[in-house]
Amino acid sequence: MLFKILSKEEFRNFIDFLLKDTEVIAPKQINVNADGKAIYQFLPVQNFEEIRLDYETTDYSAKTYFLPYKEDLSSCSFLGTIWDREIKYRIQPRAIVGLHACDINALLKLDKVLAGDRFPSPYYISRRKNTFIVGIDHDPCEGGFCQSVGADVVTHGFDLYLTDLGDRYFAAINSNRGFNALQQVKTREPTARDNNDYLEVRRRIASQFKPLEVHNLPNLMDIEFESKVWKKWADKCMSCGSCAMVCPTCYCYGVEERITMNNAKSAKIKQLYSCQFLDFATVAGGLNFRPDRETRLKYRYYHQHRGFVEAYEEPLCVGCYRCGRVCLADINPPDIIQDLQTEYQE
Ligand code: SF4
Ligand code: SF4
Repeated sequence: MLFKILSKEEFRNFIDFLLKDTEVIAPKQINVNADGKAIYQFLPVQNFEEIRLDYETTDYSAKTYFLPYKEDLSSCSFLGTIWDREIKYRIQPRAIVGLHACDINALLKLDKVLAGDRFPSPYYISRRKNTFIVGIDHDPCEGGFCQSVGADVVTHGFDLYLTDLGDRYFAAINSNRGFNALQQVKTREPTARDNNDYLEVRRRIASQFKPLEVHNLPNLMDIEFESKVWKKWADKCMSCGSCAMVCPTCYCYGVEERITMNNAKSAKIKQLYSCQFLDFATVAGGLNFRPDRETRLKYRYYHQHRGFVEAYEEPLCVGCYRCGRVCLADINPPDIIQDLQTEYQE
């Protein structure tokens, strides 16, 4: 990895450079909640002043810029016996500035499923390849347990990654385009003092996390498959699906065909879906093999912390705690995992 030092003033120039010909998405404050706490969202920005790199977290992840909630996969038009099909991929350049390590790790996990597996999605890949990513280090967010699932640091999956050293940024460079983009502004090589300051900031951040006991979790989950813990939490679940919608790693979706009444046009539409919805597991003939909330809630946790580990040797969850924050029933991974650990010890 190459490192450079960038003054805060030069970073502003860097954003101005990006804004010249690239759509820039960054955390913006959109409101305050009932407690007066700022609410942030990843949105397009027009100038540097709109960007809030000191944001704690966002309610929604930046997943939508790679996996939109709804997108047309293809559209067809029919005229007599002649028909035409159109497929569009996103190729316009875009930059996302200010992603935290957990959200970049979330993209790396999505890459495994949507860009590198047996069925790569050209829609996802086109967005991923055309998105310039600038990440930034931050103090732990409330409820976040990214360190416990190995997602508090990131070594690839971005173009540039910044660590705030007070009057300057320590910038890690992870791609040719990141290196070339930095040529547009003044940077310098890190000195021994810069390296020390960077390592000190990383130590300070790492020391602030509250550990969550996830040791041997996949095996524990297999042992506790019939645990009453699942029913206890599922009885509170409202099957609203919000947890999956805000999750940076949930990628389940449904596809439907829409045809105009005169049969002249059709569209194949993909829409993100949640495994917590009542009809998620309904198959042809009307059979629903996960009709109750308990099996649906359990399925989500087994996918995140058991099935994905078996397939990719790492959990799908990056510990961002967005699902815990959005859930009106106070259902969240740390409490459920803690309950499973306690049940095991009883
Ligand atoms: S957000 Fe909470 S209530 Fe809604 S489906 Fe998820 S776990 Fe259930
Ligand atoms: S399951 Fe919850 S904590 Fe884990 S990545 Fe998804 S939203 Fe974040």
